[in-house]
Amino acid sequence: MSFSTLGLSNEIIRAVTERGYTKPTLIQMQAIPAVLSGGDLLAGAQTGTGKTASFTLPLLHRLSSSDNSLKSTSSGYPPIRALILTPTRELAAQVQESVYEYGKYLNLRSIAVFGGVSISPQKRRLRNGVDILVATPGRLLDHVQQGTVNLSGVEVLVLDEADRMLDMGFIGDIRRILSLLPKQRQNLLFFATFSDKIKALATGLLNCPATIEVAPRNVTADTVAQKVYQVDHDKKRQLLAHLIKRKEWYQVLVFTRTKHGADRLVKQLTEDRIQALAIHGNKSQSARTHALTKFKNGTLQVLVATDIAARGLDISDLPHVVNFDLPNVPEDYVHRIGRTGRAGAKGEAVSLVCVSEYQLLADIEKLIAQRLPREEIAGFGPNPHTKPEEIQPGRKHRPKSELSQRTARSSPKSSPRKSTKKSAKKSSAQNVVGERKSGNKKSASRRSAKHD
Ligand code: AMP
Repeated sequence: MSFSTLGLSNEIIRAVTERGYTKPTLIQMQAIPAVLSGGDLLAGAQTGTGKTASFTLPLLHRLSSSDNSLKSTSSGYPPIRALILTPTRELAAQVQESVYEYGKYLNLRSIAVFGGVSISPQKRRLRNGVDILVATPGRLLDHVQQGTVNLSGVEVLVLDEADRMLDMGFIGDIRRILSLLPKQRQNLLFFATFSDKIKALATGLLNCPATIEVAPRNVTADTVAQKVYQVDHDKKRQLLAHLIKRKEWYQVLVFTRTKHGADRLVKQLTEDRIQALAIHGNKSQSARTHALTKFKNGTLQVLVATDIAARGLDISDLPHVVNFDLPNVPEDYVHRIGRTGRAGAKGEAVSLVCVSEYQLLADIEKLIAQRLPREEIAGFGPNPHTKPEEIQPGRKHRPKSELSQRTARSSPKSSPRKSTKKSAKKSSAQNVVGERKSGNKKSASRRSAKHD
């Protein structure tokens, strides 16, 4: 099957061909006709399957072929026509890049809006008119509160990685956003891991949806070679440095359970003369963008990330993923290793597992329904007398305090949030990103914790 048989316009086919795609992936083959038909869609697809193009391409086709083009108004903000919500800033930027790339021969305007950067350039772009808006829920509500986005003309709504948005406690924000949209619209809901929460959201949101699931639930891609190295906790760092040097790994994404653990590991790897940077919710948006850009362009050997920060990272042909700590939530293992072995490429995912993590390993193996091969490296094998210790908490459930903060913010009575106007700087990757260099420390960390 080719892209042309799916009914997409020549402009879109030209753009994907230039991107090097020769044929649609499985999710694209199924989702593109479903979205072109105008109906609602519930789609389960792992990251790396080509899911972004599966909704972006037909969305671009639909918007460019209807004559509902942007109405320029002399006052007020012109209505946007499609809204794509994503859980994280990185994913928002990445999806908008795809929209921009695939739509480069069309006359449609798109931007990404997310927190952690100045709101002013975003307002200006919205004021000038935008067809497709990619947004994180928190920042979108900031714009709603300030009256700088017009949602009255939304024809298509996409919830990308909806399971993660629910997981991050965005349900209140999503409900609020839904209440601001026109009743008549097309809804596309994408998830990676099915759950009762997704089922409930889909039931309330979707109208007789087409349902697609391209990979069996919670099954890891078979292009990823998985392995467990058994090691004592206090030898993990030496083992990682050993593996990187010995095996000459040049582009390694390493996951730690906590932000503090990520920072500590970066420090230690740097001492071992391995170039590493961390991305997590306590890092400024500029530091995150800097680390990600270097990692993507191959000038940074190791990127250390926490689960939430790494969500949505699309780094093509990433050869190695390392679980420095196993995640507390077994589904996160599937998401983590989904960073490698993408779109058919081969990848390797290794986990450094200490005795305290054996139960977490058992939970993961139960979820993915396979036993991972174990290996010990001479000199790094675990001491059989080491006793299991309590696992340091990482991402488990959303803390109550965060939930109540978000609920309070979502309430119409809450005071409008202040934004720092300082130092707006354009980022080439994200088109509308201004870097926030300073500002209220407390509010900055509160925001980044919530990935608005
Ligand atoms: P996604 O699942 O949307 O994050 O996409 C994963 C990767 O697959 C991205 O790097 C895309 O550029 C790539 N991709 C998407 N569609 C195709 C295709 N039809 N052929 C080859 N690569 C693709």
